[in-house]
Formats: sequence, C-alpha cells, structure tokens
Amino acid sequence: MTRTAPIPTASHFIDGSYAEDASGTPIPVIHPASGAVFANVHAATPALIDRALEAARRAQGDWAALTGAERGRVLRRAAEILRERNRDLSVIETWDTGKPLQETLVADAASGADALEFFGGIAADLGGETRQLGQDWSYTRREPLGVCVGIGAWNYPIQIACWKAAPALACGNAMVFKPSETTPLSALKLAEILLEAGAPPGLFNVLQGAGEVGAALVTDPRVAKVSLTGSVPTGRKVYAAAAAGIKSVTMELGGKSPLIIFDDAEVENAVSAAINGNFYSSGQVCSNGTRVFVQRGIKEAFLSLLAKRLTGAVLGDPLDEATNFGPMVSEGQLNIVLAYIARGHEEGARLIAGGNRVVGPGYFLEPTLFADVTDEMAIAREEIFGPVMSVLDFDTEDEVLARANATEFGLAAGVFTRDLARAHRMVARLQAGTCWINTYNLTPVEMPFGGSKLSGVGRENARAAIEHYSQVKAVYVAMGDVDAPF
Ligand code: NAD
Repeated sequence: MTRTAPIPTASHFIDGSYAEDASGTPIPVIHPASGAVFANVHAATPALIDRALEAARRAQGDWAALTGAERGRVLRRAAEILRERNRDLSVIETWDTGKPLQETLVADAASGADALEFFGGIAADLGGETRQLGQDWSYTRREPLGVCVGIGAWNYPIQIACWKAAPALACGNAMVFKPSETTPLSALKLAEILLEAGAPPGLFNVLQGAGEVGAALVTDPRVAKVSLTGSVPTGRKVYAAAAAGIKSVTMELGGKSPLIIFDDAEVENAVSAAINGNFYSSGQVCSNGTRVFVQRGIKEAFLSLLAKRLTGAVLGDPLDEATNFGPMVSEGQLNIVLAYIARGHEEGARLIAGGNRVVGPGYFLEPTLFADVTDEMAIAREEIFGPVMSVLDFDTEDEVLARANATEFGLAAGVFTRDLARAHRMVARLQAGTCWINTYNLTPVEMPFGGSKLSGVGRENARAAIEHYSQVKAVYVAMGDVDAPF
C-alpha cells in the first residue's frame, strides 16, 4: 500500500518542462479523506499563460506536418507508459480526489490509456474523401483546428485530460490543459508521459488555476477550440466567451439522468446498476442515474434488496484497497450534498439509508437512499453530485418516459427490462446523449459520450470525437477550361 503520493515537482508544465511562478495565487491541494494539505500549487500568471499558448502555437505546426501514423505512434507509446505507471498514477488520483484506490486502479489512468491507444490507432486513418464531378473532381482535407484548450472537472482528472488530449493530438492540434483547481496533479504526470513518449515540447501544456485562468485561455485569440468538462453554469459562461470568438466548443456538462426499472427486470442486476450509477466515486459522476424510476410491482423488492446491499459499503482510508466508498472531494461539495439531503427530508421523501456525515476527519458521507421521491422535489430535479439516490414510483411506459424526459438535462439514461422491444422503443424516445440497456455507466472509448439539451454539445470518444477536433477543407479541381458569361 502506498502512503505517499508521487507529487509533481512544480505547478505547471510548459514547453516540455516544469514551470513555477510563486507570485500566482496559492492553491492548497487537500486530501479529502483527512482534510490535510499534502501539496501546494500556484495559479498561472498572465506571463505563464502567454508562454504556454506560444509554446503550443509553435509546436502545433510541426506536429500537424507529421503523418498520422507518426502522431499515432506517440499516442500509443504514451498509452503504454500510462499502463506501466498505472499504480503510481492511481495513487496520485486517490490522494487528490479521495476516490478509493480500488476504483482509481481500474477507472482513471486505465481509461485515459484506452483513449490514447484508440486515437493513436486511428490517427493514421484520418483523411478526406474524393468525389468525381464529371471530368472535374473535388476532395476534402481533414485539418487540425490549431491550439485547443481543455478545461477539466475534479471527478476524473487524468481521464478527462486524456479524453480531450488524445483526439486533439491525433488530429494534429496542440493543447493547453487546465485541470480543476481541486485536483491539479495528475495532468502534470500526463504531460511528462507524453513528452517521454515523443511528443514535441509545447504540444501538451498544463496550467493551474481556477476560473479566471480558464477564462483567460478561452478568450485568447490564439485558441481555436475549447473543450470543457464541468457544470452547466460554467458551461454557459465558457460557451458564451467562446462564441465571441466564433470558436468551436465541446461541452461535457452536468446531468440528472433517469434509470428506469420495469417490473420484469432482473432485480439483482437492476440493484447493482443503481449502486454503480449512484455511489461509484461517491456519486460524483456526471452521467449518474440519480432519478431511479421503479415500476410499482417491484418497488418493495427493489428497495429491500438495495438497502441490504448498501450495508456492503466499506467507508475508510481510500488508499486501502478494501475500501469501496470514499469521501466527497471537498468540504464545499460535502456541504452542498448535506443541504440537498436536508431538502429531501423537508420535502417529504422517505429516508431508507444513510443521510449523515461520518464523524471523524475527512469529508465522508454515508451512501444515502430516499424513496417516495416525487418529480417536483429538489433532489429529483437538481444535480446533487454526491451519493444521494432518489427512488420514484411509476406505473406505465408512457408515463415514465414523459417524466424521465421532463428535465432540462439530457446526459444519459438507462432502461432495465427483459422485454427488448420495449428497451429499444424506450431508448429511441429518451432525450439523452448516452443510453444503457440492462446496465449503467459503462463508457468504453469505442462508444461516443456526451449530452443533449443543457448537458452538452459535441461528443467525446469514438470516431465522433474526430469531428470536434478537426475541420474539413473542400477543394475543387478543374480539369478543363473555365466558362465565363462575358
Ligand atoms: P465546475 O463547472 O465548477 O468547473 C469545471 C472547470 O471549469 C474547472 O476547471 C474550473 O476551474 C473551470 N472554470 C470555472 N469557471 C470558469 C470560467 N469562467 N471560464 C473557464 N473555466 C472556468 O465543475 P466541477 O465542480 O469541477 O465539476 C462538477 C461538474 O462537472 C458537475 O456538474 C458534473 O456533472 C460535471 N461533469 C460533467 C462530465 C461530462 O462528461 N458530462 C464529466 C464530469 C463532470
């Protein structure tokens, strides 16, 4: 068991090396399981922001001039290094986020490596199309956008960095990445690894800071594209700022996704999916199925099995691999979630399990289950981003579909039923970017991921991401004379 985090040696990574400027606002890095400060970084100053963008601009041209196969090789090598160092990277992620090592060992750097491998694999096969136009013809070139900015949330720091960097770099772009100020460390390790894998200095830079550093990056004229993972309020600001410069965006935002369980579902599996979709990463997952609609016929069976299974949650030191439930990422997030639990009580939901802060150090909260939740309650309408599951009752397919769609969010949805025709009928009508049938929250790199409605714009992963990190240039080629009216 590793008790010390392999902490990066400085705050930023610019033009191929670590950089520091202690005049930037200090940002203490807190271990959520103890509340102790275990590292310190500084927010990037305007001079560092300028250096990073200049380095990215310089690196991008040469990188784009390589063949796709050459770029892909670097990304695949980086994927291998990530996998070799998975344990160290997972330990950093656990120190930073508080997520159990049991999770980070399989879900964070590993998912990042999958993205680098996937986009490294298709980099050689990105290109345009030709069309014969009589004797003339046209062709398209798939070209990079230029310098892309990635801005991350705190729940999956290295995964988010990789999900953005891998398609961006595969397409021939450079990136300046700003991790969340709450979890600043692992992106620096990714920068080290990309360099070691053969990426030129300046191709992938990391700057620390809160919203103001993000805002300075988004509005800089050298930046062609912004990819944000964060909340809807931040998404609104970043989208508006990018719009002023007519910049391309990817927005991976929040959700309040429905998980719909019909009474013919296999109940054990449905309970497992509800646990995964509400309590993994202590509920701090954007696509979580936090509105669990259970058809009345199996409601009591579902709730009693679920309550029994919740006793299997092992809260404790997240660095202990036996722990399967960690703390909230921060005291602020803990207080937000506690306020929602209080509103659940006030609005008349029935508490079945949990509901309390755990006495002791760190930001631990019990996995919390409310039943008899109704559509108007705050816990059923607003994103909580914590371990609070709301169970709502329903009777018919049409009714549950209308209620599931009655939200401004549209990130994800799940359906549990043995009737596969009904499952496909449901997902065709659910307003969500990602749907699961008889499972929940699996996000392999082969499958596009992203939201509709307020939950986002664009898609990450799969070939779909290529559309969001490249542009098409059309070329008309005349083979004969030019006609003119006079
Ligand atoms: P947040 O919106 O507070 O911050 C996200 C990032 O944006 C941070 O790096 C922050 O510093 C930066 N930022 C804040 N203001 C900015 C501004 N004006 N300009 C530029 N950057 C700015 O989100 P969070 O609390 O870190 O993360 C939780 C949220 O992220 C939840 O709503 C969750 O649903 C969402 N999320 C979405 C996905 C997805 O893929 N759809 C994945 C993970 C998290």
